[in-house]
Amino acid sequence: MATTAFTTAFPAIVGRLATLAHRLLPVMIVTLAMAGALAPTPAAAQGRAAPPAELKQITNDLYFFYEFAGSNAVFMVTDEGVLVIDTRTHPRPGQALLDMIRKVTDKPIKWVINSHFHGDHHFGNAPFKATGATFVAQVETARLMQHVQAKEMARRIDGFKNQGLDPNEVKLILPDVTFDNTMTIKLGGREVRLMYLGPGQQAGDTFVAFPHAHALFTPGAFGKRSMPNMAFTPSVDSWVKLLEQVAAMDVDRILPAHGDVANRADVKELAAMLADEYATVKDAVAKGLSVDDAIKTLTFPQYKDWRNYNRLAGEIRALYELIQTGKRSYLD
Ligand SMILES: [Zn+2]
Repeated sequence: MATTAFTTAFPAIVGRLATLAHRLLPVMIVTLAMAGALAPTPAAAQGRAAPPAELKQITNDLYFFYEFAGSNAVFMVTDEGVLVIDTRTHPRPGQALLDMIRKVTDKPIKWVINSHFHGDHHFGNAPFKATGATFVAQVETARLMQHVQAKEMARRIDGFKNQGLDPNEVKLILPDVTFDNTMTIKLGGREVRLMYLGPGQQAGDTFVAFPHAHALFTPGAFGKRSMPNMAFTPSVDSWVKLLEQVAAMDVDRILPAHGDVANRADVKELAAMLADEYATVKDAVAKGLSVDDAIKTLTFPQYKDWRNYNRLAGEIRALYELIQTGKRSYLD
């Protein structure tokens, strides 16, 4: 709906001048003293060594918390207060994120955005709720957060145990405000734009633009050279289309919910991979190949270096479900 207006409004002259100044600043990397609650998932579980979590300062007011083994968060600091996107996987890492923000600023936490319904992006909400922040999510994200809460807990129990986190501490904190297509938040002289471009990795996937920084936060729909979980999308075509739309936006930096800072070429690359994977599996279904035979024959060796390649069998199975039944059993 208002999404086309966004692309034209985006390169405002004032924003450009401000951005130019930011571009001259090198990205500063702050290595964090790792508290217990920040300990990442054991590297072995990831199939490769996981780098330690770090806080990257993107511009003078925008910070990217990057945890390869977990999930990322973004926060913007203004004179009027702080806006946060996603709160990590559990109240304790959520609190560690809040502590990290407190080292940067003592301004109040004004807004918390949950980018999609997966627990690793909102189960850390509780300590932020205690600050009195206003919580925002797309309307379908809000519905799914509630609807699949039990399943989201169930599939994270082992991870909690591995990290010594008590599942009973997790509380479902639902948004105070929801939106359908777009929403603009004004804070401390900045404008932050929330956009729903249609279903990506799942319905409700929310993109957040920081026009002054030419930066865009991306939800589950994007991870650099990462094979995404295919169990939730109602339409791979819609997903590919929205990634192409994002790749055409006037942004210099992509700040994803998982994985490191990326750029538009990385988004384009994922769109091409998804289109390729989907077409290949669709072709196998059309040829009458059973799902088990498809898993044996479709090995996609060209993506063997991508993150989560080891989950390929599950992704093929999930695509078979979508193509053959049009349903997402996880969301029943
Ligand atoms: Zn996630």
